[in-house]
Amino acid sequence: MVGCDGTRSVVRQAAGIDFPGQDTTLTGWLADVELDDPPATPLAATGPAGSFLAAPIGDGVHRLAGLSTATMHHGTGEPLTLEEVREQTRTLLGRDLGIRNPRWLSRYGNATRQVARYRAGRVLVAGDAAHMFFPAGGPAGSPDSTTRSPPTPHPVHTR
Ligand SMILES: Cc1cc2nc3c(=O)[nH]c(=O)nc-3n(C[C@H](O)[C@H](O)[C@H](O)COP(=O)(O)OP(=O)(O)OC[C@H]3O[C@@H](n4cnc5c(N)ncnc54)[C@H](O)[C@@H]3O)c2cc1C
Repeated sequence: MVGCDGTRSVVRQAAGIDFPGQDTTLTGWLADVELDDPPATPLAATGPAGSFLAAPIGDGVHRLAGLSTATMHHGTGEPLTLEEVREQTRTLLGRDLGIRNPRWLSRYGNATRQVARYRAGRVLVAGDAAHMFFPAGGPAGSPDSTTRSPPTPHPVHTR
């Protein structure tokens, strides 16, 4: 059995696999929105106030992501408003891109954890069930298949 059920993995907990690491100390924000004034290409901006990304994700929606010195100590549970996204985008990018019609607004934290072991008997954990990283630090999910496959060279036999 493979538990691929995310950072709060019920499978990991039921298997008794420890998930040591550090709690969140800073947060970024993410907004999937429509734009009246979309950039022609995906863009990234970095400055003293923080960093900002915008990229199309299909269906007329752009994903905006920011990491701002002004809001980085907000908790992950603190609601993100559309007005804050507009204000942050103006601060970090210099214009607000005509942000409207939000599909998804959230904050994400920099908690960092990794399972003490990937396998307990016939149970394996993978993906975010096995690790937690701050996405602004680099790709978190995609390297799993290459970096984690060598330690499990033996087939797991089931009946
Ligand atoms: C803002 C942001 C940007 C990111 N950018 C990148 C990037 O550019 N590149 C990259 O590689 N990674 C990136 N990541 C990380 C990446 O999104 C995750 O590592 C990846 O989505 C993890 O996939 P997963 O399938 O392991 O877990 P999840 O996507 O969390 O999926 C777990 C699934 O299990 C289901 N589930 C949970 N509990 C149960 C249950 N009890 N019963 C049944 N189903 C259950 C959930 O509904 C969900 O469908 C980013 C993350 C964030 C927050």
